[in-house]
Amino acid sequence: MSLTFGVLSIQGDVLENILSIEAAIDALGIDGIVTAVRTPDEISKVDGLVIPGGESTTIGQLSKFNGSLKILKEKIEQGMPVLGICAGMVLLSNNANDKVVGKIDQPLLNILDIKLERNSFGRQRESFESDISLNSIGIPKFNGVFIRAPSISEIGSDVEVLSTFNEKIIAVKKNNVIGVAFHPELTSDISLHKYFVNLTNTVKN
Ligand code: GLN
Repeated sequence: MSLTFGVLSIQGDVLENILSIEAAIDALGIDGIVTAVRTPDEISKVDGLVIPGGESTTIGQLSKFNGSLKILKEKIEQGMPVLGICAGMVLLSNNANDKVVGKIDQPLLNILDIKLERNSFGRQRESFESDISLNSIGIPKFNGVFIRAPSISEIGSDVEVLSTFNEKIIAVKKNNVIGVAFHPELTSDISLHKYFVNLTNTVKN
């Protein structure tokens, strides 16, 4: 069966993720396409979805406003694979506090039972890169790009830790749902996108 991947295209790193998913589909020789999706109708047609990095308050509010948040939650709960990157992982969480301003009233999907700190590694100008590893999913070395990245301090019993950095949790998985604090689409290494394409292929075929 041909697979349709979507990249949520409300705000943030959309094009970079489309290119990374396209490269992953090609490298794996899988029959699939990837498109930018924004409306509930567009979202309803995808088999796997990337929620990109950007600004979680903006992505949350606009997707609530256009009705996408509701269908996103339904589809993820029904088993659609999703890769939430940085702001995307914030959106997937059920408990997000900003390091400086604390809790604000922002729409969340309440999918991952995690306690998350937004902007945990500092502001935009404190962005950095570091080698990280995601051993349990077969990626021993990866270049982590951290831009106003969140971290996770507590996880629910059904959430698996995929990676830590400086004793902070930076990547998690729960069944069909992956959340990462760093930006894989900003590196030339497509191994995480390949893992996600494979996961979607396994779930759907
Ligand atoms: N700090 C941003 C937020 O909480 C996320 C930053 C990013 O996606 N690069 O929404």
